[in-house]
Amino acid sequence: MDPKCKFPTADEIDKLICAEIPDKETDLELYNIITECMIHGPCGAAYPSSPCMEEGSCSKFYPKQNFKTTSIDKEGYPVYRRRNDGRFIEKNGFKCDNRYVVPYNRFLLIKYHAQINVEWCNQTGTQEGQMNLQNENTPASKDEIQDYFDGRYVSVCEAMWRILAYPIHYRQTAVVPLTFHQEGKHPIYFREGESTQDVMDHDTLDESQFLALFELNKCNEEARNLLYEEIPSKFIWDGKEKVVFRRKTRAFAIGRINYVPPTIDDAYHLRILLNSVRGPTSFDHIKTVNGVIHKSYREACYALGLLDDDKEYIEGIKEAHFMFSAKFVRKMFVRMLLSAVLSAPHIVWEETWTMLSEDKLRRKRE
Ligand SMILES: [Zn+2]
Repeated sequence: MDPKCKFPTADEIDKLICAEIPDKETDLELYNIITECMIHGPCGAAYPSSPCMEEGSCSKFYPKQNFKTTSIDKEGYPVYRRRNDGRFIEKNGFKCDNRYVVPYNRFLLIKYHAQINVEWCNQTGTQEGQMNLQNENTPASKDEIQDYFDGRYVSVCEAMWRILAYPIHYRQTAVVPLTFHQEGKHPIYFREGESTQDVMDHDTLDESQFLALFELNKCNEEARNLLYEEIPSKFIWDGKEKVVFRRKTRAFAIGRINYVPPTIDDAYHLRILLNSVRGPTSFDHIKTVNGVIHKSYREACYALGLLDDDKEYIEGIKEAHFMFSAKFVRKMFVRMLLSAVLSAPHIVWEETWTMLSEDKLRRKRE
């Protein structure tokens, strides 16, 4: 902290906080507030039944000692000036002198005309500030549980973070996972013990996020112009109610179609098509290229020219490399070689060999 911003001396504390009875003649308004709100007790031997008394002494350590000047003790706590100047305020027939004054700030008391305890808290220990507003007609009642909840601890790090106005929340664009499945292969959820007929009778049998895409595309022109992964930017899928609805706010989300390895041939090629075909309304629609419904998704991929340059396989390796170990990605490459799906394996190798071998150097060093 900049030295100018610290309160390094007792003089500085005295300017802000006082623990003495003011002069009745020159500052009557403050004097009256102190009388009303800022005198602790009386307690101690004179009033052993005071609520602050615990095991024969005041739990708030009143009466304090007289001190001629304000100082700061070894732990960094302030010891306020409480001169023995003969001033006192009579409460319940007891003469309370400066030793019974709760530390206060004149400005705050005059402004709010209420009990406002002030503490100088520039030491390294933990401090807690409490404010308690209550109706003056309602007697104060001690609620320790509430007191506990009211105590809000702000650490030094958090305080600095907030003072310097650094962002508190990192907000990132929502990524919506998009599921898909082959025809008739969507997951069905049922409870243990349900009969086959019960399961077949479920209303949700024909519902899935992916099937809802077809329905949306059938009736919404805007959706038909979008790829599946672009749908979440304009529409929201409510998985509970099984409905898709238009985004009302300007909130934005990115869609990510679930990953499928090339070993699951049909699903893998279906996923490739979903990244190219806009607005599909059925499974056959996805397989249709130039008016021809192809037998498999793979054939449709070829018809669209998506597999000629092995680009999808290269992308597949890159994507897997992002998520899995180099060993896994190598196995994937070997499987591609063995299944003879690559038209130019050496090009795939040249594009991906650094990913396929990234752990080799490290392993050799070990
Ligand atoms: Zn007390």
